[in-house]
Amino acid sequence: MSDKIKLLPDAIANQIAAGEVIQRPASIVKELMENAIDAQASNIKVYIKDAGKTLVQVNDNGLGMSDTDARLAIERHATSKIRKSEDLFEIKTMGFRGEALASIAAVSQMEIKTRQEEDEVGTRIRVNASKLVKQDLCQTPVGTNITVKNLFFNVPARRRFLKSNAVEMRHILNEFKHIAIAHPDISFAIYHNGKDVYVLRNAPLKKRIIDIFGNSLKGKLIPVSESTQDLKISGFVGTPKSAKKSYPNQYFFVNKRFIRSSYLNHAIKQVFSDLLPEGYKANFFIAFDVNPEFIDVNVHPTKEEIKFEDQKMVYRFLGSAVRHALGQHNVTPSLDFDKIGGLDDSLAINSGGRSHKGNNYNMPRNEDGDAWKTFYESLKEESDTEESEQPLTLESQLDNENKDVQQFQPAQIHNAYIVAQIKTGMLVIDQQKAHERVLYERFLSSEDTGIIEMQRLLFPEQIELSPDKVELLSEIRDELKKMGFEINPFGQASFILHAIPSMLVDQGNLLGIIEKLLDEIATDTDSDTAVKEIIAQSLSAQLCIKKGKSLNIKEMRSLIEQLFASEEPYISPRGKACFITISMDELEAKFN
Ligand code: ADP
Ligand code: MG
Repeated sequence: MSDKIKLLPDAIANQIAAGEVIQRPASIVKELMENAIDAQASNIKVYIKDAGKTLVQVNDNGLGMSDTDARLAIERHATSKIRKSEDLFEIKTMGFRGEALASIAAVSQMEIKTRQEEDEVGTRIRVNASKLVKQDLCQTPVGTNITVKNLFFNVPARRRFLKSNAVEMRHILNEFKHIAIAHPDISFAIYHNGKDVYVLRNAPLKKRIIDIFGNSLKGKLIPVSESTQDLKISGFVGTPKSAKKSYPNQYFFVNKRFIRSSYLNHAIKQVFSDLLPEGYKANFFIAFDVNPEFIDVNVHPTKEEIKFEDQKMVYRFLGSAVRHALGQHNVTPSLDFDKIGGLDDSLAINSGGRSHKGNNYNMPRNEDGDAWKTFYESLKEESDTEESEQPLTLESQLDNENKDVQQFQPAQIHNAYIVAQIKTGMLVIDQQKAHERVLYERFLSSEDTGIIEMQRLLFPEQIELSPDKVELLSEIRDELKKMGFEINPFGQASFILHAIPSMLVDQGNLLGIIEKLLDEIATDTDSDTAVKEIIAQSLSAQLCIKKGKSLNIKEMRSLIEQLFASEEPYISPRGKACFITISMDELEAKFN
């Protein structure tokens, strides 16, 4: 029998390795930016076309490469950063595996132009799916300019796997932000389809943070700085007032590399626990500088996790550094947060539209898909008999006792659930989830039915946003308009809110609602849910009546009616049950 094992040709081996390192355009942005930093560049520019699917280009003014180095750079395991195995334990550069350029070259059309200070002319190399197409001399400034075109052109399956441009661009901007925060001493810029998204001059960290996240953090950053011989902690925590209920800006860096760590996150959460109301989360930007000997960066292929030799020590040290910082700034518990108020009016509005099919959720379907209609009908019979608005007090209960059961009124328990009688037994409705469902369908169907009335604002409100959110809001402006929000651009970084859905006129915190919506879309980098649905989900979750709100009989009835008039009364937009039923048989069984 002949031997079967063969060594893979390099091009295929590289393509396989590329699968690990290069998952999407954002991976290229990260690897190329890190290489530029390793080459000591002080100015790095990133050009993106079509969310990186057509082009990623990174220009740096770093050390450049000689012609032989440029040629070697695209070979696998070619690195100038590691020479002997001990080097692995004291890595000070961002890269060290020598995989990135080889991997990128395997799945794209790449061009490198590079020149060292001492050389008169530069080198140009063109590679097509790992194959060297051409190497020649060229005129180019000192530094390196790498162009990556048509990512995955030779791996159609992976190209198809890429998400929408909006999603891929969000991944790119996240990588860009991580690197830009970690290196405030370097100037960075990123352009998408010819438009600048961020242009960041080198600056102290505090200014870099504000340049990236916008003025809302201005004056709200408390410096943290503490060090021992082996570990230095520096950066900022947000004041309690700047804390957010969702999507706080929380960033950890270890030796200038962005990392995620729920463990260290907990250390900060602990410190803030007495300072923040339930559910609020602090912003933080914390950098650890640690002797490379004490960490293992090798644990994760894209290096977002890291192992400290002594995790517990780091945890305690971080906690005390943050506590110390807050103490020095006399931060004491302060609880005057703007809360989004209840939404009384919306309950009174009849839900007209019911065109949306929320069929991407897992429905706890009854065998009889229309079973709810029976509930609804029996409910109607009951509520139609008498339009009483008296509150459900003990007295009214007693009054009812002598009358026909048909007159049973819905009752609210613990300001959270509505109990109602149906022919076959009883119904327990989760008021919050039910209202969320009602609003969700109303927002989604607004386009077809025009049931969302717009109300022009007497005093239009200005919305100031960070650059990535400006992109985002421009993207979803049309969708928002269909749902009743008229928002027009105003200068580079702001918008004006001209009109809102009329059911929101009594809402205090309009800007907060829009900001949270943008945060939610920005963080939704994985799902393929249509933007329109995310908007409807966010708005309905924010605006629905919450648990804890007491409802009168009329409101309860209105909610029940609207729920059962909706397309999918069973489940909330986020897939939780809106109500449960308990049959007479079940009740009976409980007592036997
Ligand atoms: P690694 O960064 O792990 O060493 P890469 O494949 O990313 O591996 O890069 C290979 C080598 O190419 C680097 O070690 C470096 O010597 C060289 N190189 C890559 N990008 C640049 C750049 N922008 N400027 C100068 N040298 C570079
Ligand atoms: Mg590298």
